[in-house]
Amino acid sequence: MRRILCAALVLAGLSTVAAGLTMAASSAPSAGPTSASDPVRETAPLRTLVLRCGRLLDVRTGALKEGAWVIVTGDRIERVLDRGARIPDGAQIHDLSAYTVLPGLIDAHTHTFLQPGDYDVQLLKQSLPRRTLQAAHSARALLLAGFTAIRDLETEGALFGDADLRDAIADGITPGPRMQVSTRALSTTGNYALLGYAPGVAIPKGVQIADGPWEIRKAVREQIEGGADWIKFYADYRKFQPTGEIIDLRVTMTQEEMDALVDEASRRHRPVAAHCYGDEAARAAVRAGVRSVEHGLFLDETTLKMMLDKGVYYCPTLTAYQTSFDETPTAAWKKVVDGHRETFQRALRMKLKIASGSDAGDFPPGDAARELGLMVEAGMPALKAIQAATLVGADLLGWQDRIGAVEPGKLADIIAVEGNPLADISSLRRVRFVMKGGEVYRTP
Ligand SMILES: [Zn+2]
Repeated sequence: MRRILCAALVLAGLSTVAAGLTMAASSAPSAGPTSASDPVRETAPLRTLVLRCGRLLDVRTGALKEGAWVIVTGDRIERVLDRGARIPDGAQIHDLSAYTVLPGLIDAHTHTFLQPGDYDVQLLKQSLPRRTLQAAHSARALLLAGFTAIRDLETEGALFGDADLRDAIADGITPGPRMQVSTRALSTTGNYALLGYAPGVAIPKGVQIADGPWEIRKAVREQIEGGADWIKFYADYRKFQPTGEIIDLRVTMTQEEMDALVDEASRRHRPVAAHCYGDEAARAAVRAGVRSVEHGLFLDETTLKMMLDKGVYYCPTLTAYQTSFDETPTAAWKKVVDGHRETFQRALRMKLKIASGSDAGDFPPGDAARELGLMVEAGMPALKAIQAATLVGADLLGWQDRIGAVEPGKLADIIAVEGNPLADISSLRRVRFVMKGGEVYRTP
């Protein structure tokens, strides 16, 4: 991975280092959809690049256009031309004729600050600078795996580092996807790790702990001041045994607390993401007015109908639990994975808005596209899975006018993969070209 990374950076540098940095800086929205100033600056040099596509996937219809040309000027897609059309004189051409070209993917649930392995060790023994460097490495890995935008749902004890990473990427300091971030996330006393240490010993927590409507409102205000685009909270919490048994699954907040959290966030135009495993938490979160339900392991039809009626997005993160089952194939983990798949299939039948989010951080970020394969294995048509990671993801982020499709006027976030992802979804794990905002980060 390190070797590939270096190659990609050299390639990006070929188009002149200075131009590369200004391009990367100019093209990335650095704040959420509701920030006061428009973060898409219009200062990019108007260099024209042409992508010669083997086939171009229209993610709205599933049509594959053979031999299309995509004209990129500055950080935007200018035109899409048919095979044989005249292309601009003197434009630099990237030959992707052996590949399928499609919009950059969106992972709507990542943790760049989290690594696989012992959670307590990361919080107790790794410094914040060390964790931030690790997060930058994960962000690069996600970009090179084809993810040109992510929603990073809490730093797991690394405070507001995700806001800094988002801005450093937008400023061209380090390569990575466009990011929307949630900073610290929220839960209530006794309802988040680190847990189990002797009373009186000061230990860090993976989230900000707040109790009661006013403490929660203050925490929301602090997180927004610290750069949060989203507010994320734990509507329920559980302990997992290493063997996969879930013990003590409990709702963390009263309805009054959840209502206060969402009300405070919406006063500042910040959407809310709720971690929910079960029906009781998810129903309370939906009543409070959240924009997305994360994981949703065990949701029945009534809960899903409430989500459907209120337009709440479902972000299942199948990969996280499948990875746990792969590592520890016990009956208990199988029960989790099977129950989760049944919820996913119910949501699919009921036509909920399903966004693709992997929970990368629980597993190496280079594997994030596995989520699309698992959704297809569970019965989602390949085109729908690709839409979950493009069009639906862009809608969830409020960036539907900027990203999610290869269309004139959109930001030039474009990838190319080996094979045909409609016929074989695993081709999305064979990304050979990555462009973000008109800047090339990976070539075949
Ligand atoms: Zn997560």
